[in-house]
Amino acid sequence: MTRVTIRRTGGSRSTTALLVGVLLLSSCAPAMGTDVVARRSDRIATSVDAGPAPDLAADETAELLDELAAAGLCDPVDVEDEGTVTAMHFVVGGRLQAPCYSDPEGVEDQRLLDAWAALTETTPAELVDDISLLAGYEACSGCDTLAFVVALDTEASFFLLGVDVVAGAADPDELRLTMMHELTHVFAQEPGAQLVVQTVADECDTFHNGAGCLTDDSYLWAWIQEFWPDEALEGLPADGSPNDLEDAEQRCRDDAGYTGAYAAVHPEEDFAETFSAYVYEVETDPALADKLAFFDRYPEFVAIREHARALGLTGIEAAFEGCGA
Ligand SMILES: [Zn+2]
Repeated sequence: MTRVTIRRTGGSRSTTALLVGVLLLSSCAPAMGTDVVARRSDRIATSVDAGPAPDLAADETAELLDELAAAGLCDPVDVEDEGTVTAMHFVVGGRLQAPCYSDPEGVEDQRLLDAWAALTETTPAELVDDISLLAGYEACSGCDTLAFVVALDTEASFFLLGVDVVAGAADPDELRLTMMHELTHVFAQEPGAQLVVQTVADECDTFHNGAGCLTDDSYLWAWIQEFWPDEALEGLPADGSPNDLEDAEQRCRDDAGYTGAYAAVHPEEDFAETFSAYVYEVETDPALADKLAFFDRYPEFVAIREHARALGLTGIEAAFEGCGA
């Protein structure tokens, strides 16, 4: 079972899903924005069930939802590679809105609402407000992507978070870890603050992740400088995509300082897996101590862990396979 993400993917720790994720990332990412914006959806969000966004009046929120729907951004086709879409919701200012798509029509998916709650019960609205669209799906046969994140626009600022609602409902602890993992792929790629989008790799003095160049004071650049020495980065494909799983497995055998082989495929996955372990204080190898302590430097991350502690969500069970000989 599985959680994984490669910017586009979330999913699975399995080799198959990993490769699928990589292919989707490289084949879809640049073209998606224009396609998606050009598409129109006939399913218009007409109501707001969670109140207006903190900084918007109710009528402004409703107007924004109409614009998003009219732009075709609530479209199950963006998720259908993973399975049957059950529901989609816009998120405005960190607040989940009424479904803009559901199947059957008009029926909310409680499993998806639970997945959102698993994330937001610990995470303040300002840290989830870069998520713009939430989608639930029942995974296709043989598919094992637990969750994924993808930016639907060319500015890489409109993030869709998709989650397998069946797997999530079956394992609430794994769901929490997965949602937290995916959240990092959103907040650590915030255009401008974290990432300069569409920079040419040759012009990037930090690290180019395929979508753009990390800023000097981004979370991930700090992470890479500290934990991914040049010899580890050298093994990564030049386009910023994840490493081959075999290389990652070798790195995992050689170094206990990863939560598992999946974390060793790419600095972003390492960051995401370790962050979820940090928030929920999952028992991990002592070799991860420095990586876990990294997050203590950021008050926004400490706050999430404090929320988890206050809810008694510490030391939860995780399927981390661990590394080291
Ligand atoms: Zn990931």
